[in-house]
Amino acid sequence: MHAWNNPEVPQVAGSAPTLELFNTATGARQATAPADEAIAPASMYVCGITPYDATHMGHAATYVTFDLVQRTWRDAGRTVAYTQNITDVDDPLLERAAATNVDWRELAESQIQLFRDDMEALNVIPPQNYIGAVESIHWLVPVVEQLLDADLAYRVPAGADGVEGDVYFDTLAAQNDAWKLGAVSNYDRETMLGFFAERGGDPDRAGKRDALDPLLWRAAREGEPSWDGGKLGAGRPGWHIECSVIARKTLPAPFTVQGGGSDLIFPHHEFSAAHAAAGDNAELAQTYVHTGMVGLDGEKMSKSLGNLVLVSKLREAGVEPVAIRAVLLSQHYRSDWFWTEQLLAAAQQRVAAWRQALATTSNEDAAKVVESIRKHMADDIDAPSALEALDRWAAQPAGSNGDGAEALRHGIDALLGLKL
Ligand code: ZN
Repeated sequence: MHAWNNPEVPQVAGSAPTLELFNTATGARQATAPADEAIAPASMYVCGITPYDATHMGHAATYVTFDLVQRTWRDAGRTVAYTQNITDVDDPLLERAAATNVDWRELAESQIQLFRDDMEALNVIPPQNYIGAVESIHWLVPVVEQLLDADLAYRVPAGADGVEGDVYFDTLAAQNDAWKLGAVSNYDRETMLGFFAERGGDPDRAGKRDALDPLLWRAAREGEPSWDGGKLGAGRPGWHIECSVIARKTLPAPFTVQGGGSDLIFPHHEFSAAHAAAGDNAELAQTYVHTGMVGLDGEKMSKSLGNLVLVSKLREAGVEPVAIRAVLLSQHYRSDWFWTEQLLAAAQQRVAAWRQALATTSNEDAAKVVESIRKHMADDIDAPSALEALDRWAAQPAGSNGDGAEALRHGIDALLGLKL
């Protein structure tokens, strides 16, 4: 699927140190490349949207964070392979389409386009591989067939609706050297059961071998879209196997970073890794990186509370996207935080101050600020400290020559994605 247009990323003299990131799976920070392979290619998979609603600030924070990861790698001289999926068929999308009386394909297409426009406005570098669930079904079916043949997946008897053929993953049988339950999340079983029920799982489905077993293939139902599933029969894919297969088809194994919001740690990333381990006896990713949740004014942000802060609405209201991006960079990516009007106003003031300071900066100042930004970004994407370095530079007594402006403007653009 077409992603969005590539922004121009300037080249900057010098280069970034090796990026270290906090790995959820190990609970520790680790370098994203061995020291002797600091310029080896890097690869990243970030879970994409389910296109039933516009991009809210939580989405924007996630995609901007991984954009910073990509920019830091590129600045260090590494080439980056980046894949993002779109879950363009799933229960929430079909439910929203039915509730609003819109064809689910039209709803998906309109929301994907809105997402593209938001990403472009926020100066996010697009993934090379932008792949929908629907277009990956022919990759996925043979993988699930193999899991069935290996008895690592099984069919559950018909439930109340009388439909036969739903295929589930045998979590406990699939454990091996590459993955054991909890390898990614480190959660205990009680926590897993809670999140599984809350986040689309069905622990109470009768006939499952274990309550946590996730769906791999949903057999066709009256009124639901379905595709040819070979030996699986007509149906549509489960969510975790979708990402697991798209990642393995498009990236090296294991790839460098699996990314997403912290609400994807379990069950989504746990089982994406489990499916890869069961199929290939191999780890899916080297580093699991998760972004915090974004609320509004002290509350959880959710559709049901009607308090989503949408990037598109802010843009419509005339807010400059660079100021939205500056708000996102002002919060550490691993923190949970709240969007407020005050944060936006503060970011707008900072952008104005940085622009003013660019008129008078010298070459020497420019080089120092770029090095400072590089150091902070390599340090587990510490964007708030990078912005504080910019503030300190901008607060210095004004010089007069302005001959460093171009170099620093390029540095701020390339490393932080802020086009000033
Ligand atoms: Zn995913």
